[in-house]
Amino acid sequence: MSAALAEDFGNPSSLHHFGQRAKAVVDQARSAVAALIGADASEIIFTSGGTESDNLAIRGAWEALERTPRRHLISSAIEHEAVLNTIKALAKRGAETTLLPVGDEGIVSPDALRAALRDDTALVSIMHANNEIGTVQPIAELSRIARERGAMIHADAVQSAGKIPVNVKDLGVDMLSISAHKFYGPKGIGAIWIRRGLRLLPTLTGGKQERGRRAGTENVPGIVGMGVAADIARAKMAEEGTRLAALRDRLETGILGAVSGTILNGARAPRVPNTTNISFDRVEAESLLIALDLEGIAVSTGSACSSGTLEPSHVLKAMGFPAHRTQNSIRFSLGASNTQTDVDKAIAVLPEIVEKLRHLTRTPVRA
Ligand code: PLP
Repeated sequence: MSAALAEDFGNPSSLHHFGQRAKAVVDQARSAVAALIGADASEIIFTSGGTESDNLAIRGAWEALERTPRRHLISSAIEHEAVLNTIKALAKRGAETTLLPVGDEGIVSPDALRAALRDDTALVSIMHANNEIGTVQPIAELSRIARERGAMIHADAVQSAGKIPVNVKDLGVDMLSISAHKFYGPKGIGAIWIRRGLRLLPTLTGGKQERGRRAGTENVPGIVGMGVAADIARAKMAEEGTRLAALRDRLETGILGAVSGTILNGARAPRVPNTTNISFDRVEAESLLIALDLEGIAVSTGSACSSGTLEPSHVLKAMGFPAHRTQNSIRFSLGASNTQTDVDKAIAVLPEIVEKLRHLTRTPVRA
């Protein structure tokens, strides 16, 4: 990325040699990103991240079909806000929308999709791996079902690409979104794979960059960083996936065994290897997050804290959990720098922290 800033600073659209140097490094990164998801490099469009890729897929498909009878969009209740809020925005513009439910395992059922599909369904957008609980959705089967009814299918693979094998052909989708910062690339850069020949209106209009699908001078340093990150992720995926899954299982088993009133949220499998989401009865997730942070352990809550009130996690809510469980859950994510020592420390400090927090609230244990 430093070299891209200092030496390959040309504009990839320029014909002179500075421009052509920049174009060469962008093309190299495009091939690396394509290889990560089993795609052809010519079908990769660079964007500013997962959010933009999701918007391009959903708005682009919707706008391309705006003057046709296909006015129905399907997604799931556990999508990231980048998808959910885009679907909501299109509902205000006249789209009919269906959000598929999930059971307590956090997995979208093919039968639910079959039941929701209509002759006028334009697009089905379902995430590959969920960002809060890590469950992996049966995208290949969902794709088959959607395509049988003539609907396009998009997968948000932001949480799976770089962590588990993702292959656009095996998944059978028409569009797939990814984001570099989820596999150690820089922030603010992502990509979307769009099946060749798919009609999609661009969300950004302007120049002819990225085959006319995404206008604007390319973020060359970001793209280069994403390419290198994709190469590294692909090379290390099998070994790192096994290592992380073992660490995650040790953490999960350790916490569920050492801390009373804990329960795992969502299915154990299929799941991405780095994530576990655990509910701590009679504990406010935000307080636990802060206490763990003081110990040097960084975790997150699915629930958002706005103006001092905890918003329940929409994912856990969709899984049918009671209000308290949607607000007392913590996501632990493991990554490249984590070791068994980190995991064992978390297991060691948690019982006392949880006990202290429960003592403060003094509410009775719920079943
Ligand atoms: N989709 C999913 C499943 C995500 O987890 C995220 C980010 O957390 C996004 C989309 C948005 O990606 P970005 O932050 O690159 O815009």
